[in-house]
Amino acid sequence: MNDIKLALLGSQGAGKSAVLVRFLTRRFIGEYASNANSLYHKRLSIDGRQLNLEVFDPCSQSSEARCILEEPVDWADGFVVVYNISDCTSFINAKNILQQIREARLKNCKGEVEVPVCLVGNKQDLCHARQVGEDEGRCLAQENRCHFQEVSAAESYQDIANLFTQLIRQVMEH
Ligand code: GDP
Repeated sequence: MNDIKLALLGSQGAGKSAVLVRFLTRRFIGEYASNANSLYHKRLSIDGRQLNLEVFDPCSQSSEARCILEEPVDWADGFVVVYNISDCTSFINAKNILQQIREARLKNCKGEVEVPVCLVGNKQDLCHARQVGEDEGRCLAQENRCHFQEVSAAESYQDIANLFTQLIRQVMEH
């Protein structure tokens, strides 16, 4: 059984918990108490392999959230960095987080290994209030050599399932 550890990072309110709960339960939970760190477990099978998935959904302001990036012993095998397409501040925050992941990994791995990361533009259903272009998200992902996906935790399961599956595959190949 493979153990895979993922962490969700991003601004408070970007929809990290909603994205994760959608993946784990196929449901959208409108209001979610996200003022505490949460560790989720799920057993799943990908490409015929049984996996033990652990996903850390930190309270955005918590010291544990910062620790994940600062701890030399990396907890996470992969990261999902979430921003809200209708909030440009959350995009700037995502940019900073990607840079911190890069710097933390360079320090730890002497630049030899790149951790799998997926950049996620959530709340695609709010495109009438869009503040971050899809191209901006794609460019940022290219700069950071990571996968990119716009999703709506409110409206769709499949895109979210695809991005987690792809990230887990990358971690398994790592
Ligand atoms: P977190 O702090 O990043 O974990 O964000 P939450 O998952 O708690 O979501 C913050 C708010 O955004 C909640 O009111 C959610 O209902 C809402 N939300 C999350 N995802 C979506 C989405 O895809 N579309 C819309 N319209 N609202 C969403």
